[in-house]
Amino acid sequence: MSGALPLYPLTSKVTAMRGVGPAFAEALEGAGITTVKELLWSLPYRYVDRGSLRKIAELDGAWGAEREVVTVQGVLKDIRSTTTRVRRMALTEALLQDGTGTLRLVWFNQSYLARALRPGDRILAFGPVAATRTGLEMRGPAFENLGKGDPEDGLWSRRYLPLYRRLGPLGGRFRQRLVQEALARAAEPGEWLPPELTRGIPDTLSALRLLHQPPDDADAGDLEAHATPAHRRLACEELFAFALGVCIRKAGRMARRGHAVPTSPELRERLRALLPFRLTGAQRTAFKEIVDDLTSGRVMNRLLQGDVGSGKTLVAFLALAMVAETGGQGALLVPTEVLARQHAATFRRLLGDGADRMELLLGPMKAAEKRKALARIASGEASYVVGTHALFQESVAFQRLQLVVVDEQHRFGVRQREAIKEKGLDPHWLVMSATPIPRSLALALFGDLEQSVLDELPPGRQPITTRLVAPDDAEAAWDRVERELEAGRQAFVISPAIDPQDEAKVPLRDIQAMEALLRARFPDAPLAIVHGRLKADELAARMEAFVKGEARLLLATTVVEVGVDVPNATVMVVDHAERFGLSQLHQLRGRVGRGSHRSHFIMLSASETERLRVLTETQDGFRIAQKDLELRGPGEFFGTRQAGLPRFQAADLVRDRLLLQKCREAAEKALARGLGEAQRDWLRQEQARLRLAEIS
Ligand code: ADP
Ligand code: MG
Repeated sequence: MSGALPLYPLTSKVTAMRGVGPAFAEALEGAGITTVKELLWSLPYRYVDRGSLRKIAELDGAWGAEREVVTVQGVLKDIRSTTTRVRRMALTEALLQDGTGTLRLVWFNQSYLARALRPGDRILAFGPVAATRTGLEMRGPAFENLGKGDPEDGLWSRRYLPLYRRLGPLGGRFRQRLVQEALARAAEPGEWLPPELTRGIPDTLSALRLLHQPPDDADAGDLEAHATPAHRRLACEELFAFALGVCIRKAGRMARRGHAVPTSPELRERLRALLPFRLTGAQRTAFKEIVDDLTSGRVMNRLLQGDVGSGKTLVAFLALAMVAETGGQGALLVPTEVLARQHAATFRRLLGDGADRMELLLGPMKAAEKRKALARIASGEASYVVGTHALFQESVAFQRLQLVVVDEQHRFGVRQREAIKEKGLDPHWLVMSATPIPRSLALALFGDLEQSVLDELPPGRQPITTRLVAPDDAEAAWDRVERELEAGRQAFVISPAIDPQDEAKVPLRDIQAMEALLRARFPDAPLAIVHGRLKADELAARMEAFVKGEARLLLATTVVEVGVDVPNATVMVVDHAERFGLSQLHQLRGRVGRGSHRSHFIMLSASETERLRVLTETQDGFRIAQKDLELRGPGEFFGTRQAGLPRFQAADLVRDRLLLQKCREAAEKALARGLGEAQRDWLRQEQARLRLAEIS
């Protein structure tokens, strides 16, 4: 029958479908689904195998022993909520009958269930079963409400039943129906992938059918692990579109003329004279790569990666000096004021007598001071400029800006770059990543940037002793702090920033409690406390006191993370270490071990010890980053930077990293051959779906 109806292109709006009114359209849109394509790319989260369904009469207590998840289907009788007498928890109980027997379902602290479920509803329940004195019981089951449905309504016409997440008022059952209709009426789209990517994978519509209506011989494990050729088809389309976008941007940049910085033996001599140390081999290589870019006549766009303490700042300084010493201006953009002040101080030191050629520009400066700084930037008197985002406000005019170095913590987006271009400038870019980024992710996020890697630390570094200590043994940590303080050293103590919402769930020691502990334990050590709620100048003053050695103990939330350099600090204690990502901890650890004394990094934690142990096993930031990425996924890995990630529906940057590599190669070839008009159209649609325009 559906054959007679017109077919939808995948790009049609979901509102063109039967039954999708304004309320449902809004719920779908809230989940990022506005087109039929987005609806179909949004895959089931689970496939129930009819073969795994159990009759209640077949169950006995033995199931509970292995805590195996059992699937049962039945009709709900009698649902009630009570409060337990002992721990005063809300208890919701329901009876499920399937014609062979009755099973009790029990949930704790989910009293809304009593409202969401009705007697007479047919549900699928998934959970472990246990025998109790009063009979069989399934505790805390996950479930799928099939509504009042008749068991024979075609739901189980196949072996697998796909389950979809509920979206607001839109239940899983409704989505099942919507997807079935979309599949029946979707027009086969064109083939947008080049032949080298399509070998062994089905076409788009076949892939979607395989995933939404799996055939009986499919493997549910593979489906749920997204490890089928059908998944590869969908992931490949996303990754290929993404790779094409990146390659096009890169090609555009390669075609632009950039300022060619002139070099000469004198310049090299001048730069060498500015250096306080011999460069490491890795610094030398990276700098050479930068010089090649700066002198090439094209616009540089390079990522400088390196482990904590590998000396990125010095390389950045040299790059800036290249342009500053040849009549241009270079700017260093950093994420926080503390860091801006510190980099400015480093640059002043390196410049010696020439220090007045450096200008610092911050958001909250006194008006007169700011006017003066702006004038010096506009006249070109300031050839080295260090600042926060304030650098790119409209009122800032550069005389001849030739290089921007971004010391980035959060992603510096396309928009800000556009703002700079709007000033009629097209400077060279050098992006420094604050933490090492695993290769696969670097390719995904910085695919249009060339890369330099500092994989060597400066000589003479003392290894950092890393320990994981249970809170009950915290005295060992405080002993270490005491010994370091007695030896004239300084100490960091890090408390997690606590969001009041978390507090309700887990008891955490907050920064006030830690302050009290430190004051009692170290009454004679001057203590500075910094956290995110301080005003910028107060924060800077307190940090300054620690940098100068006036404060001996620094208690901080993660504001210290981004690069303070205090060589006399030799111990750091991190409270509730489980609250931090591995890369974040590694970055924190990099705050000690900067001088010639042996240093200590101590994590206090009662949980997630296996994950945290990675830090005790290696000091290689790239390995830690890879582990962190595997454990937490790309979104969490970047924390607040999520906005800078493409919004893939089917692809996964970790799982599909080899596929991304292939798509990248294929995209380069496809561009060299040239894209057709239809392919360009498809690319534009995909870029909108994946929100690629928001990514730099
Ligand atoms: P990061 O890469 O973490 O930003 P920094 O640039 O802050 O590292 O450098 C860490 C420390 O190493 C600084 O104290 C810096 O002065 C020092 N340093 C950098 N390069 C060298 C070098 N070639 N030889 C010796 N010390 C160096
Ligand atoms: Mg740094």
